[in-house]
Amino acid sequence: MPSTTYSFEREVKTHKQADIVVVGGGPAGTAAAIGAARRGKKVVLLEKSAQLGGMGTLANVSVFMPVGNVTGIYREIIKEMLAEYLPAGHDESIAPQYSPFLLRQYLNDKMKKEGVDVFFHCEFVGTVREGSRIRAVIVSTREGLRAFEAERVIDCTGDARVAIDAGVPYRTGREEDGLTQPMTLMFTMQDTGKPVKPILPEGCYYYENVSDLPQGRRLYWERNGDGALLVNMSRVKANGADMEQVNYAETEALKQVFSIANYLQRTGFGTYAIAHIAPQTGVRETNQIEGRYTLSEADVVGGARFPDAVAQTNYEIDIHSPDAQKTTDERKVDGYDIPYGCMVPAASIDNLLVAGRAISATHVAMSSMRVQATCYALGQAAGIAAAVSIEDGVPVGGVAIGKVHEELKKQDVRLLGK
Ligand SMILES: Cc1cc2nc3c(=O)[nH]c(=O)nc-3n(C[C@H](O)[C@H](O)[C@H](O)COP(=O)(O)OP(=O)(O)OC[C@H]3O[C@@H](n4cnc5c(N)ncnc54)[C@H](O)[C@@H]3O)c2cc1C
Repeated sequence: MPSTTYSFEREVKTHKQADIVVVGGGPAGTAAAIGAARRGKKVVLLEKSAQLGGMGTLANVSVFMPVGNVTGIYREIIKEMLAEYLPAGHDESIAPQYSPFLLRQYLNDKMKKEGVDVFFHCEFVGTVREGSRIRAVIVSTREGLRAFEAERVIDCTGDARVAIDAGVPYRTGREEDGLTQPMTLMFTMQDTGKPVKPILPEGCYYYENVSDLPQGRRLYWERNGDGALLVNMSRVKANGADMEQVNYAETEALKQVFSIANYLQRTGFGTYAIAHIAPQTGVRETNQIEGRYTLSEADVVGGARFPDAVAQTNYEIDIHSPDAQKTTDERKVDGYDIPYGCMVPAASIDNLLVAGRAISATHVAMSSMRVQATCYALGQAAGIAAAVSIEDGVPVGGVAIGKVHEELKKQDVRLLGK
C-alpha cells in the first residue's frame, strides 16, 4: 500500500450563507431542514445524490417500519402521501409500503413549500473550524469546491461524515470487533401477467433451496395488490463507510439480485420480471458518534425514559448478522425515549448536531432506533434545537430543552407521557 500523504490547500469561494446547513437529505436531514425552517430559519440542505429520502428512496427501502407512534413530520408524510394509512391517534403503529418515486417527488415539493434551499450533487468534503465552532462546510459540487457558511450545522449523512471531520470521536459497528450489519441491494419485480423466461447472467448464482439464499429466507412484500414485489433478500458482509468494502458490496449485491430474481421466477413468481433495482446498495449501519449520552441496549430493553426525550420508538432490536451468518436477531421491545444528548457530540463543538442513524448509540441500541420514522423524529428535533440555540445565543449543548419541547408540540409532535 502506498503510504504517501499530502497536505491539500485551496482558496474556496463561499456559495451561500445560511442560519443552518443540514448535510444529507435522508429522513433525518429532510426533517431537520423542515423543523428549522418552520422556526423561521434560513436553511440550506446539501445532498450528494440527486434525490431526497436517503435509504428510503436511494436504496428503495420503501417500507416504514412500525415505531409505536405516527407523529410530527412523519405523520404529515403519511397524511399527505399515504392518507389511507393515517391512524386517528399519534400513539398508534403502522407499517405502510410506499413508492420511492412518489416519496422523491413529494419531498422535492415539500422542501419548496417549506422554503428550504436544496442543493443536489453536493457532497460534503470537509469542515472549516474556527475555535470551538464550524464556520463553513466545504462541498464538492458540479462547479468544483464551494463553501457554505452557517451558524449551526446538522450532520445527517448517516455516516457522521461531518462530525468525524470536525474531530468528534466515533466508533464503528459492534463494540467487540467493529463489524457492522450487512448491506442489502433492494429491488422490485413486477407481475407481467404472462410467463417470464428466467435469466441468470454470467457470474451469478443458481440458488436451489431457501437455505442457499443469502439470508437463508424469503423476505419480500407484495405491495398493495398492484403486482409489485419489493424484495429484501440480498446480504453482503461489508461496512458501508469503507471504500474497498463498498466496491465489493456493490458488485456482489448486484449478482445476488439477479440470482434471487432467477430463484423467485422458478419458485412461485414465474410471471414476474425485474422492474427496478435501487441506485445504490443500502447501508444499515456504519459510524456512531460519541455523544453526551449513549443510548444502550439496557435503555432499549428496559424502556428508559428521559427528561430531554426528543423521540420515542418501540421498534424491535433488529440485527442482520454482521458475521455473514444467515440469521437475524429480532427481539421485541416495549418502547423507550431517545434523549437529546445522543445528538450532541461529546467533543466541544458548539454548533454541531448529529441526527439520524449515526447518533450516539451502541450497536444493539442502534439496530432499533435506525428505522426511518425514528430518524425523521430525531431530525425534526435537531432542526428545532439548532434554531433555538441560535435564538438564545447558546451552544447546541446548552439549549433549554423546554423550548425544544414547546416547539415540537407546535409542530404537532406528541411525546407520550409529556
Ligand atoms: C436494506 C435496508 C432495509 C431497511 N429496511 C427498513 C424498513 O423496512 N423500514 C424502515 O423504516 N427502515 C429500514 N431501514 C433503515 C432506514 O432506511 C435507515 O436507517 C434510515 O433511512 C436512516 O436515515 P438517515 O437520515 O439517518 O440516513 P440515510 O437514510 O442513510 O440518509 C443519509 C443521506 O445523506 C446523504 N449523504 C451521505 N454522505 C453525504 C455527504 N458526504 N455529503 C452529502 N450528502 C451525504 C446520503 O446520500 C443520504 O441521502 C433499512 C435500511 C436498509 C439499508
